Amino acid sequence: MAKQKPQKPIRVIMLGAPGSGKGTISKKLLAAHGGNHVSTGDMLRQAVAAATPLGLDAKRFMDNGELVPDAVVNGLIAEWLDAHRSEGFIFDGYPRTVPQADALGAMLTQRGIKIDLVANLAVPNDVIIRRLTSRRSCSKCGQPFNLEFMPPRVAGVCDKCGGDLVQREDEKPDVVKKRLAVYEKQTKPLADYYAARKMLRNFASESSETTVAEIEAALAKK
Ligand code: AMP
Repeated sequence: MAKQKPQKPIRVIMLGAPGSGKGTISKKLLAAHGGNHVSTGDMLRQAVAAATPLGLDAKRFMDNGELVPDAVVNGLIAEWLDAHRSEGFIFDGYPRTVPQADALGAMLTQRGIKIDLVANLAVPNDVIIRRLTSRRSCSKCGQPFNLEFMPPRVAGVCDKCGGDLVQREDEKPDVVKKRLAVYEKQTKPLADYYAARKMLRNFASESSETTVAEIEAALAKK
C-alpha cells in the first residue's frame, strides 16, 4: 500500500466582521486538515461561564459589544501557543487590533512559527446583520439555531433537549450595530496591515463551500 504523505499543519489567520462566517469556514478547513480552531470569543465565553476573574472582567466589555483589553487576549494566545507549539491552527477573531497583530507577530517570531495565510472574508454589512440577529441558542445545551437558515421545529424550543432558545446578549440588534462599528474602526485596518506584509488574500464569495475551495487553492500554492 502506498505510504500516505503526512499532512503539513496549516497555520491561518481568519479575518472578517462578526458574522462573516469565520467560525463555519474554519471548522470546514480543519475537518480536512486537522489542527485547532482557536477562537478568542469562545475562550472568553468559557471564562465567563466558569465565572473566573478574567471572565467576570471580560463580560462587561462583551455584553456591550466592546473589545476586551489587548493584554487579556494576548495572554490567552501566548498560553495557547506554548501548550500547542507544533500543532496547526486557525485563529478566528484574533488578532482584532493592530497592537494585537504586533504582539502576535512577536510571539510567533519568538517561537519560530510561520503563518501560511491571512484570509480576509468580505461579506456585505446587511447580510451580516441579518445572520447575526437571527441566531438563537439553547439555554440548556447550547445547541445553535438560526431563525432563517436553521429554525427549530417548534418556535422557541430546542429540538435536541426541549430547552428554551435565547438570543445572546451581544447578538441583539443594538449590540450587533456597535460590534460592526468597532470592527470598522479597530479590526478592518488589519487587512491593510497584512496586505503590506504580503500575507493577505481576500475572499468575497457568499457561499461557505466556494470560500473553503478558494482558501484550499491558496494554501496549496504555499
Ligand atoms: P466573537 O465571538 O469572536 O465575535 O467575540 C465575542 C466578543 O468577545 C467580542 O465582541 C469581544 O468583546 C470579545 N473578543 C473576542 N476576541 C477578541 C479579541 N481578539 N480582542 C478583544 N476582544 C475580543
